[in-house]
Amino acid sequence: MSSNDKKSNPYLIYALDINGKPVHIDSVPNGFSCNCKCPHCSGKLQAKNGGTERAHHFAHNDGADCKGAVESAIHCLAKEILKESLCVMLPKNAGELQFNKVETEKNFPELKLRPDCVGYYGEKTLWIEFKRTHEVDVHKAGKIISARINCIEIDLNSCGQDKEKLREFITQSFENRKWIYSREHGVGSSEHTVSNRNSSPKVDSELGLVKLDRHFAIDDKGKLIDFREPSEFDANKHSYYCPCCGKEVVLKVDDNGSYTFDHIEETNICKDEMYLRSAAVSAIQKAFENSKSFIIHLPQYRSCKNDNKCPYYQECQIPTTQQYDLKSHHFDKYTKDYKFNDVAYSTDLVLYRENIQKNSIEVRVNTENLEYGQNSPRRTIDITIYNENDVHQLKKGLSDYKNVHFTNFAPYAEKKAEPTEINHNIWKFIIYTSGKIYIGPARCTELSNSFNNSNTIKEGAFIRTNNIKEDMYIFLLLYYKKLQKDICRCQLCWSLKKTNGINNNYICTRYKTKGTPKHPLQEKNPPKECPYFKADFNILKREKELIEKMKIVEFQNIPQNK
Ligand SMILES: [Zn+2]
Ligand SMILES: [Zn+2]
Ligand SMILES: [Zn+2]
Ligand SMILES: [Zn+2]
Repeated sequence: MSSNDKKSNPYLIYALDINGKPVHIDSVPNGFSCNCKCPHCSGKLQAKNGGTERAHHFAHNDGADCKGAVESAIHCLAKEILKESLCVMLPKNAGELQFNKVETEKNFPELKLRPDCVGYYGEKTLWIEFKRTHEVDVHKAGKIISARINCIEIDLNSCGQDKEKLREFITQSFENRKWIYSREHGVGSSEHTVSNRNSSPKVDSELGLVKLDRHFAIDDKGKLIDFREPSEFDANKHSYYCPCCGKEVVLKVDDNGSYTFDHIEETNICKDEMYLRSAAVSAIQKAFENSKSFIIHLPQYRSCKNDNKCPYYQECQIPTTQQYDLKSHHFDKYTKDYKFNDVAYSTDLVLYRENIQKNSIEVRVNTENLEYGQNSPRRTIDITIYNENDVHQLKKGLSDYKNVHFTNFAPYAEKKAEPTEINHNIWKFIIYTSGKIYIGPARCTELSNSFNNSNTIKEGAFIRTNNIKEDMYIFLLLYYKKLQKDICRCQLCWSLKKTNGINNNYICTRYKTKGTPKHPLQEKNPPKECPYFKADFNILKREKELIEKMKIVEFQNIPQNK
């Protein structure tokens, strides 16, 4: 291979003849009589094809080093090749395409575009663009996509000024080319399916970071648009701006054929999360502005209608999600990026009635790493977003959005619950005069907060419990210990008496009357049936723990009228 193919400092070996056709250095007369001009700057060229020492090449009139000359020469060659061979290899899996005719540099004034080549086949056309190192028209891809013109872009960066190799590359290889738009091959149309998004995050090869494809932008009318929504995007009518910084963005097609909005000036690119957050705020704003209602689903409690009768009224409540339309509650104004004096941050959106200082609601958008750390003294709706699908959802408002958190809203809904709706499952207990303890499930609606059973000493229910029956039993023993002289080790019977002897212990007189030995603890085989002898004084150690865990309410004993 000659030194001409070297990329480092290649000589120009193709130039344009007077008809604009690329001609090889060895096919023209020596010197200025070659009548050739530079494919890049159109400057007059001199053919240096006489010697045998240096490689033959074209030189500029003034000896200037024309930087884009070789790239332009390759471009001109590529166009010439397309015209000659009437054939191109499409990007991967799409095969070869034969044309009836190929036109170059055809002008499309209505689009203000001049594609490198237009290939005609059957009733259809395909635009072929050869990529330039420095994109001339950054709006080009967006315009082509908006106009739904089938178009591929071929990157000739790896090619030299070898016409035959270039022909082979263009007509036989599917490398280094991509669809800008294709109806037939799905590019462009598939991208419009919102649900397809975010399935394959791109990795920035330099930073190793996942780069988000950005499909949201603000158009010149201030409207948030989603590229994937049919008809929302039209680069031939609108220009687009970054939701975050407001700088102009254009649609770009990456090598995988995915579309993304990108800042024209690549410096100071807004971070993905900043972009997502700004897009989300715009989406919510749009939903608020454009709809007659603005629904939130507020998690609240409904307390029991019977709350003065139910012994559990503090607990007798059911969680509910109450729907409120903020607009019908006269929240019809909003301000973006508002700074209240009592907080350090600016609120994304403040919704209010007449006066922003009075009873307003803050709407704050959070992302994984960008969170509002500070609590507000006002009612606050915190929204967390993770990706563009979330932004898409928020365009419909907050109504169905899952990651919403409400702070400082009223905990109870105005509407109370029917007792039967609540039907609080609780543990009821009864302590009988016999000393037996009953613990069992009951429903709050089935309870009255009184009892008049003469066999009952205490009746009540657990307001707080760990739901372990054994522990509840011990708790009752310990709790009622205080009401008595000591724990009755036989099921809290009220018949406990101090014995006069036996290790200063207590004994159940009721049991005793049933035949306790005079000194039961001294018996060789103490009677097994009496719970007295099963008593476990270790339960005393659990007193503190269980009293923290559990709480009971006692029903009132109604004295019977005689
Ligand atoms: Zn030049
Ligand atoms: Zn930006
Ligand atoms: Zn109740
Ligand atoms: Zn007893």
